[in-house]
Amino acid sequence: MSETNFDYDLFVIGAGSGGVRAARMSASHGAKVAVAEEYRVGGTCVIRGCVPKKLFVYASQFHEEFEDAAGFGWTVPKATFDWTVLRDNKDKEIDRLNQIYIRNLNNSGVEIIDSRAVLKDAHTVHLVGEGRDVTADKILIATGATANVDESLKGREHAITSNEAFHLDELPKKVIVAGGGYISVEFAGIFNGLGIETTLLYRGEEILRGFDDDLRVTLHEEMEKKSIRVITGSVFTEIEKSGDGYKAHLSNGEVLDTGLVMFAIGRDPNTKGLGLETVGIKTGRKGEIIVDQYSQTNIENIYAVGDVTDRANLTPIAIREGAAFAETVFNNNPQAVDHSIIPTAVFSQPEIGTVGLTEEQARAEYSEIDIYKSKFRAMKHTLSGRNEQTMMKIIVDTATDKVVGCHIIGPHSGEMIQAIGIAVTMGATKAQFDMTVAVHPTAAEELVTMKEKWVAPELKAAD
Ligand SMILES: Cc1cc2nc3c(=O)[nH]c(=O)nc-3n(C[C@H](O)[C@H](O)[C@H](O)COP(=O)(O)OP(=O)(O)OC[C@H]3O[C@@H](n4cnc5c(N)ncnc54)[C@H](O)[C@@H]3O)c2cc1C
Repeated sequence: MSETNFDYDLFVIGAGSGGVRAARMSASHGAKVAVAEEYRVGGTCVIRGCVPKKLFVYASQFHEEFEDAAGFGWTVPKATFDWTVLRDNKDKEIDRLNQIYIRNLNNSGVEIIDSRAVLKDAHTVHLVGEGRDVTADKILIATGATANVDESLKGREHAITSNEAFHLDELPKKVIVAGGGYISVEFAGIFNGLGIETTLLYRGEEILRGFDDDLRVTLHEEMEKKSIRVITGSVFTEIEKSGDGYKAHLSNGEVLDTGLVMFAIGRDPNTKGLGLETVGIKTGRKGEIIVDQYSQTNIENIYAVGDVTDRANLTPIAIREGAAFAETVFNNNPQAVDHSIIPTAVFSQPEIGTVGLTEEQARAEYSEIDIYKSKFRAMKHTLSGRNEQTMMKIIVDTATDKVVGCHIIGPHSGEMIQAIGIAVTMGATKAQFDMTVAVHPTAAEELVTMKEKWVAPELKAAD
């Protein structure tokens, strides 16, 4: 029973990472909660984001594993790959996770409503699929984000986004992935690893804008070594149907034949048609819902968490914001999420793990910084013969000796950065990194054995 005159104490729109966590925790604090989901419970991360993506990354890495095995004495018969097996096994796993999410919500006493929901007024939600209204004391918007496409591009209807990439009937022989963000480089690696001739097309100067420059340059080089063609400073001018595939016309004058075009050119907060204007909820330039540190909108009883607020668009952040909302609103324990230090991975090939400030950000923030940098070939590749570089970089505020950024590209760097993230969050100093005993032989030991400050080659030459 709701303690108010409303149907629910809390109505959540969107059963993704943030919405599910908020709904379950609020229910555990005694609130009467319902959540509406228009597609599948679990949201982007579970259904068509992080989880299926990572399964595809695993699949695409076997091809190099088979090659690398030769240097260790293994003769592996010519490997073949069946896309439908991978796709269908992935679907089974996603169905399993979807069921777990549904079960967890049910066990927490949260009512699940399979419908699109839109706001009618500050306390009323219209359930589009059911043609009825419900009321709630508090409303939480957790509708996530949607993939951008260039609607003005001629032939845009021929291109897919990551949503469709998870369900292709068959794999093409050639693909062009447009975009320079993490989803784009991840899918370029996946397609390439699965044996597809892959081109990455990016309008900017260098891929992975916002990441440390050494990561960006190293990944670009390594992707090219793996035969991915990376075209920067160019965009599509038209996508034209041609036989079984397409002709992609580029602004640099090239025309590329391809079997598939995928857009990964960013994601916008999913606020269109949600009724925000009707209620007067303030949004920003991209349509993101503007919230304070407690995820409260300008309308007192309406809150928003996750990608729809465009703060840090990652699952663990949406989950944290959802949990903090429940604590604040239903457990009388105001909690603001700290977005300042976020360890994160890019499942490119090679993988990236990063936490804290980039060199550029650190130079802007601190009067003096020290850089420690190491580039080497991972031990495994001494025998495999693979010409792949690992790069590790530590950025230190000279005045306090605090490590303010750490950036790694190389195998397992996502796993490494989770642990380094603890140290950086705790405010560890470079001296404390150095005090830590190395784990030998690993690549990660480099992080505690970098003694020499890195000096730019042009400065060295001037000495
Ligand atoms: C391809 C891809 C790979 C990614 N990989 C990673 C990764 O490796 N690591 C990571 O941390 N993050 C990753 N992300 C980002 C991550 O998925 C999101 O940050 C996270 O899902 C955000 O959670 P959320 O709760 O804000 O929204 P979502 O999880 O998107 O959930 C929103 C839900 O709301 C539903 N919905 C929307 N509107 C309505 C409505 N009006 N009524 C009812 N339901 C509605 C949607 O159907 C959806 O289920 C990836 C994203 C993509 C697309």
